[in-house]
Amino acid sequence: AEGVSEVRVAMMADKVKRPIIAVGSGKGGVGKSTLTANLAVSLARAGYKVGVVDADIYGPSQPTLLDPSGQKPKARDKQLIAVDSEFGVKLLSTGHMIEPGKAIAWRGPMTGGALTQMMEADWGDTELLLIDLPPGTGDIQLTMIQKFKPDGAVVVSTPQDLSLIDAARAMDLFRQAHVPIIGLVENMAGYMCPHCGEISDPFGTGGAQAAAGQLEETFLGRIPLAMEIRVSSDTGQPLAAGDTPQGQAFAGIARKVSD
Ligand code: ADP
Repeated sequence: AEGVSEVRVAMMADKVKRPIIAVGSGKGGVGKSTLTANLAVSLARAGYKVGVVDADIYGPSQPTLLDPSGQKPKARDKQLIAVDSEFGVKLLSTGHMIEPGKAIAWRGPMTGGALTQMMEADWGDTELLLIDLPPGTGDIQLTMIQKFKPDGAVVVSTPQDLSLIDAARAMDLFRQAHVPIIGLVENMAGYMCPHCGEISDPFGTGGAQAAAGQLEETFLGRIPLAMEIRVSSDTGQPLAAGDTPQGQAFAGIARKVSD
């Protein structure tokens, strides 16, 4: 696995290109956006200047996750200027480009155009961009890979078989495009009952870790299914901003990503 530190050294040698890490998943709803936001906050707390591009056109959730006050990006000479979130993370989202509550029925060229506008925005002194990709292996992923060449990819999956099959497909896309895969994260692994503390495994557990082993990819860590993660996401208070066990789990994954 290739980490941010190495990419950062490469960036200093070549001042132009800022490292790009894509966060992908085979399916929607597995926690890719939640992970991206929490990784960004963890990396910012670790001293990196981080930006997040929310390219998930089907459900742009980074403004909710990272910027509950709902700032709108400004533009200068038609170049967008990334918004500063409360967590020291800069942000641009496809959600910034549509009206709230409006359906997104963009065609390929438009989504590619939106991605390009965000990627080529004014990111100030941002050292590292995390890209929250839509689920699957569609147009945006191809534009991302072909035009912006991510320096690494993190793939998220739940422990379920079906989700893992899709995650393997997402990884295959990166591999074919020679995007180094930093590793696989297992989300929603084990549910802790808030009342009795018993841990149950609604989606099984260990599946992503086993799959990472089979696919010879790095396993980056496991995040439990926890009410506080859902609540913190909905209220724009990423757990990585605090020091709860869940917040530390995200920070641990961020350390592996940046090593
Ligand atoms: P994706 O980006 O893969 O579509 P999201 O990050 O939007 O997924 O997560 C989908 C939903 O699941 C959100 O409501 C989110 O708050 C919730 N969620 C994600 N991860 C967890 C978790 N570990 N525990 C509880 N809820 C989670």
